[in-house]
Amino acid sequence: MSDWEFGKGKKTCSSCAKPLAEGEYLFSALFLNKPQEAERQRSPDQIGNAEQFLRSDYCGACWESKSQGVFSFWRTQITKKAQPKTPREILVEFFENLISANSGVDPAGNPSDNKLSYINEAMRPKIIYLFSLVLLRRKIFRIKENIVKPASPAGGDNRTYLVFERIPDNKVYEVPEMAITDEELAGLKDQFAKLFDFEI
Ligand SMILES: [Zn+2]
Repeated sequence: MSDWEFGKGKKTCSSCAKPLAEGEYLFSALFLNKPQEAERQRSPDQIGNAEQFLRSDYCGACWESKSQGVFSFWRTQITKKAQPKTPREILVEFFENLISANSGVDPAGNPSDNKLSYINEAMRPKIIYLFSLVLLRRKIFRIKENIVKPASPAGGDNRTYLVFERIPDNKVYEVPEMAITDEELAGLKDQFAKLFDFEI
């Protein structure tokens, strides 16, 4: 797993090296680094060791200029407490940012005004699926139903969607079911776990 770089939450900015003071926000960003040659040689939905997720932690000032092309991120406030945010809050925030980065368009099809510019990477749906299962296992999500959206001009694609409800506020998320082996899922989870400061 040496292809997966990670850094545990340092309390200094990766860009300007400034130590963060109490009360400041630290932006932990994951970037997807794709070696060009490897990218050309494999099919779009194959996950190999070609992709590297890199984590960088930024101060607020640097985040303004470094957020282009981020895969997803979470934000923590520096406090005297060892764990300013619970893993639950971080996972929910990460998941929300992950899905909001999915298309770059809002539900009405208009370009998103999100200031981040995202790439619709082929592997993003698999990561979304993975994290929906992580949230399910942590009892942050519960399964409401499975639905199939018949192919239609309105956007149906004949695929199965897992419909999750967030506990306790019942916010609903529709996640396309992915054809992914248990082994691949476990491998991805293992690799992602290293990017967080806690077990996922
Ligand atoms: Zn900085």
